[in-house]
Amino acid sequence: MALIVQKFGGTSVGSVERIEQVAAKVKKFRDNGDDIVVVVSAMSGETNRLIDLAKQINDQPVARELDVMVSTGEQVTIALLAMALIKIGVPAVSYTGSQVRILTDSAHTKARILQIDSQQIHKELKAGRVVVVAGFQGVDEAGNITTLGRGGSDTTGVALAAALKADECQIYTDVDGVYTTDPRVVAKAQRLDKITFEEMLEMASLGSKVLQIRAVEFAGKYSVPLRVLHSFQEGPGTLITLDEEESMEQPIISGIAFNRDEAKLTIRGVPDTPGVAFKILGPISSANVEVDMIVQNVAHDNTTDFTFTVHRNDYHNALQVLEGIARDMGAREVIGDVDIAKVSIVGVGMRSHAGVASRMFEALAKENINIQMISTSEIKVSVVIEEKYLELAVRALHTAFELDAPAGKGE
Ligand code: ASP
Ligand code: MG
Repeated sequence: MALIVQKFGGTSVGSVERIEQVAAKVKKFRDNGDDIVVVVSAMSGETNRLIDLAKQINDQPVARELDVMVSTGEQVTIALLAMALIKIGVPAVSYTGSQVRILTDSAHTKARILQIDSQQIHKELKAGRVVVVAGFQGVDEAGNITTLGRGGSDTTGVALAAALKADECQIYTDVDGVYTTDPRVVAKAQRLDKITFEEMLEMASLGSKVLQIRAVEFAGKYSVPLRVLHSFQEGPGTLITLDEEESMEQPIISGIAFNRDEAKLTIRGVPDTPGVAFKILGPISSANVEVDMIVQNVAHDNTTDFTFTVHRNDYHNALQVLEGIARDMGAREVIGDVDIAKVSIVGVGMRSHAGVASRMFEALAKENINIQMISTSEIKVSVVIEEKYLELAVRALHTAFELDAPAGKGE
């Protein structure tokens, strides 16, 4: 008998019919003898609807009151799911975040979980009930309702699983697992049976939006086994774990991630003196712009070129700041480019295999794709290329690293 935390997202509880389907699924697990705690999001679209309502009163609603309001979305779904379970003969009870006492700090709309009181839940489980907990919300020391930030129900699920020492935290969503890359770009992308937390974080931060990044970090930190599954299709999903077992079939690269939301800025002909990087990036960071990749060339003529990438939304802001810096420093010119994209290969296998980066560069060279920037970490190699070659690059790399599904599969 296992203790399982199951989290269902907004689309999975998007209608009464779907909530009844979720109830049937929960019943199946429970009939197997498992103890089940369910975490649900608000019905899809509901959180947005509530935020819109608030904005009709005030563009910048008071955060405390906004939390009081948006937390109602989840309060509706926990009650509906508990009712649906009871209707099919499964004893169930719903709890809001404050009733379980998911204690958070007081940072309204982006609160952090400090502590969870698991006693009440254990008591309910012992009494044979399925416990349905509202995702996304908590309560601060003073009793104010708080919320954890958009997509926060994933974090609630993982935090509850950690507090209850659950055997697994299952995240049910509208995809059947984590894929080697976006199946819309590569038809032969394959579902991964397993991926490590580290790899998942790299994949997620690069735009594979299956799980909230914070939830993955949390699960890694507390070693909560996480599984991503489809809400309404059968299948094993993808298990996200700590262990990096080395097997013969284990590919070196687990996936190809990519991101189109990047822009590149270059400041040319800056004096090659100590403190230059700080003089350039200091004001950029003061303008609240996050910098991703950075390249500084070797100097010649006592000047150097300095290139970095930012989120495309920050491009104009960063360009303006950089032009000011260029004037102050007497740099030659500033060049910007928004038509770029970042492609990364991700895999813990890189730690134990040489030549992975060159294999990547070879595959891109074969397609005549020019690499503009390169950065590496222990388990990732990223390149910046012209955006129009993005899909070609992803496909070429997917094939080069033998990630393509065998014929007949994946399409
Ligand atoms: N309902 C919240 C949101 O839409 C939390 C969640 O779905 O995870 O952001
Ligand atoms: Mg969600």
